[in-house]
Amino acid sequence: MKISVGNISIECMQGDIASRDEVEAVVNAANAQLTTGGGVAGAIHRAAGPGLAKECRTKAPIAPGEAVISGAHDLPNDYVIHCLGPVYGRDEPSDQLLASCYRNALRLAEKHKISSIAFPAISTGAFGYPMREAATIAFNNIKEMAPELEQVKTIRFVLFDEDDLALHQQIMKKIFNT
Ligand code: ADP
Repeated sequence: MKISVGNISIECMQGDIASRDEVEAVVNAANAQLTTGGGVAGAIHRAAGPGLAKECRTKAPIAPGEAVISGAHDLPNDYVIHCLGPVYGRDEPSDQLLASCYRNALRLAEKHKISSIAFPAISTGAFGYPMREAATIAFNNIKEMAPELEQVKTIRFVLFDEDDLALHQQIMKKIFNT
């Protein structure tokens, strides 16, 4: 499912964030040390190979809400943007920290002239953020930032399972009034 906001296209799809060869940048739901792990970080590091881990060692640690950019190594992309989402119930204010992840990732994409970017549902796995609230924060912040985006033309949400995809589509429709 795809919607347009100005000249930006926002899409939700089901799949694996680590096999998106159609976007320039993929976002990692990282840990503070930017190391591999479960979920998204594990999939990205496995697909990117040891070069990513090596580069990441020079950029870690990062704080909740922060985003840093690296090369994509063996992934079929140009960049990986690593965001540290808040741990729900621990890192406060969690809504603002999660919003900062999306905002800082988009700012980095603009700075590096990235035209297409794919996000996972940051913080909704091991970090425990309720999916509905997290999706609402993500789309609200993208909606707010859309008018100032000059380079980014495609924003794609990649959800692992069908229910998460359906929920994101529903919330996206509501927030963008489509
Ligand atoms: P966090 O630690 O920020 O919560 P996780 O990686 O544990 O990050 O999970 C974030 C979300 O990404 C969860 O909803 C999880 O189901 C989903 N997910 C896990 N692996 C992948 C993958 N390979 N591609 C896309 N989404 C994934």
